[in-house]
Order: sequence, then structure tokens, then C-alpha cells
Amino acid sequence: MTTATAAVLYQVKQPLVVEEVELLDPRPGEVQVRWVANGVCHSDYHLMSGDVPHPLPVVLGHEAAGVVERVGAGVTSVKPGDHVCSSYIPSCGKCGYCINGQPTLCALRDSPRWFMLDGTARFRKNGVDLHHYLQVAGYATHAVLPEPSVIPIRKDAPLDVVCLVSCGVLAGAGPVFNRAKVPVGATVGVYGCGGVGLNTIQMARLVGAAKIIAVDVVGKKLDWATEFGATHVVDASREDPVARVQALAGGGGVDYAFEVVGTQRTIEQAVLSTHRGGTTVVVGVSPAGTRLSLDPQLFLQQRVLTGSSFGAGHQRTDVPMLIDLFMDGKYKLRELISRSVGLEDVNHAYDLLLQGEVKRSVAVYS
Ligand SMILES: [Zn+2]
Ligand SMILES: [Zn+2]
Repeated sequence: MTTATAAVLYQVKQPLVVEEVELLDPRPGEVQVRWVANGVCHSDYHLMSGDVPHPLPVVLGHEAAGVVERVGAGVTSVKPGDHVCSSYIPSCGKCGYCINGQPTLCALRDSPRWFMLDGTARFRKNGVDLHHYLQVAGYATHAVLPEPSVIPIRKDAPLDVVCLVSCGVLAGAGPVFNRAKVPVGATVGVYGCGGVGLNTIQMARLVGAAKIIAVDVVGKKLDWATEFGATHVVDASREDPVARVQALAGGGGVDYAFEVVGTQRTIEQAVLSTHRGGTTVVVGVSPAGTRLSLDPQLFLQQRVLTGSSFGAGHQRTDVPMLIDLFMDGKYKLRELISRSVGLEDVNHAYDLLLQGEVKRSVAVYS
């Protein structure tokens, strides 16, 4: 057993409590990691606000990078000293999903993802078990994870930057090349230009989309969208985004629309922005209970509405690939980081996120 400093959610609508907790030893098939950094992602906030119900108390954080400290018996893919990104969706490599090339849908998702694979916790405080958010618990200086929840990465990549690839970057960029398979010259609409949507925009640019139309209601985010490769911006607080996107795209609408907000309204707008036969990919996480209202005629016109989990590709190769693009100077990651904070400032980092003040904050542990 050792100790870790962790940000713990005890009650919804209450600040995270940053405190010392006990960390039990890794068991067979588990890995103990010293987290170096964790990106401040909106998904954790859904638990803090109660929009997504979750067992409490829980150590939050699911966008982490760090160094392996110890491994349990039978662990073969990493060893102490290896650098890793977290994989908030594990891939077992053995189930039907993994074998058939859809490891982001792995059967391990069917068991509770707030404990280790044996159904028990490794964090404890005053005799009470603490849950591990998505088996990652990145808002902790040290954590234990199932082996499939860590992805080995190159050692020369800065961990306080590439932690972003563990969620927001792959979640935003992956749908472009994995789900939509956007071809050169395509027209693309992106609803939502925060820390995830900017990656959708950036990857659309990288694969050679001709028109990249960015939609948001915050002027500053539209400026960011332009920096990351948008060719046109639409301020949905001032004009009807559907009509504007259709007009800018020509031909009845965009080939591909990406929804990176997570609301009924923006998902419906994204679908309506595509021309007949166009494809919409839902990336944003909607609050529990969200429902859509769309005319089925849209789909008789061969529009496709689909979604994406963790980039919808192969997380164990997509994460290192995106890090390679960054290290080669072909992909912007540092520019995504508006500020770095200590673990004790994570609550404040969420205030700024909600105010639309930051692209991404990163919590960094010394
Ligand atoms: Zn996330
Ligand atoms: Zn699997």
C-alpha cells in the first residue's frame, strides 16, 4: 500500500475534495502508474453536476499520462519506467468487438467501469472504498489500473501535453478519419469549437477537407476555430446556423457534420446541415435523458446519423499515431492548452471551462 493525493467527488454540486488517500497494491493483471498530468475534460463535470449519475465517492479524471511504477503478476505489455496514456475505454484484444476491429466498443465496457476488472477498488479513505472514474482516476498522483487501460507511448513526448490525446484529442480527431473517413476536398461542418471540436477541425484540415465550417455561440471559440483550420465560422447566437451552413457549403449542405456539443438542438442542427446522403457524427456527450426529434424523411433521403466512442478506431494505435504527428510538428497540441493548474486548483479549472474561457486546462502534478 502507498498513498496518493486525489481529487474526490463526494457529493454532486459540491467541489471536489483534494486529499490524501490510500492506494492498494496492484493485483495480477494491474498496473500502478504515477500520473504526471490530466486534462480538464467536460465529461467529469457531468458527474459533478449530476447530469450523468455515478456511484460516489469517486476519484475523477480520465485524460491522463504518466509513468508505470509497478506491475502485478502476468502484466506483459508494460514494465516499470514505461510512459503511458490512459485509455478510458479498455481493449481486451479477445472479445468479438476487438477481434472484429472495433476495440473502442470492447466487451469490457459491459462490466462496471468504476472498479478494477475483479469488481473491487484500489483507493480507500477512512475505511471507505473510492470508485475509479472509467478505471483511470487521472486526478490522482498515483493510481492502479487494469492493464488494458494503459497505452504505452514514446518516452520523448512531454506527458503534460500528450495527456490530452487520452480523451479530447482522439475523441475529436478520430471521428474524422475513422468514422466519417472524410476524403480530400470534402465539405465539413463542426458544431462546437471547444477543446474537443478544435481537434475535429484540425484533423479535417489535415486530411484535406476543402471547406470547414465551424459553428459556435461564443465569439472567442470561433477565433480559435479559425486558428485551428476552419475556413468559415458561423455565430449561432446571431443567425440560424443551419441556413448559414447550407449556404456556405452549397449543394444543399455539407458532406459531413460533426456534433461536438451534446444537446438535442445541436445534434438536430447538424443533421439538417447535411445534404441528401450526408453523414452526421455525434461526438458530444449529452446529459442523461436527452432525446431527438427529427423527420424520418431525412433518413429516407439517405442521410446517416451515427456516433463515435473514443475516436471510433483503434485506441492502442491511434493514440501513439497522434503523438507521432505532434512530435513531427504536424499536429497542434500545445496550442490547445490555455493553462496549467495544480491538483488543488481543479475546481477553479472547471469554473473557467464552464465560462468558455479555456480551450483545455491541464492539471499537472510535480
Ligand atoms: Zn474526456
Ligand atoms: Zn475486447
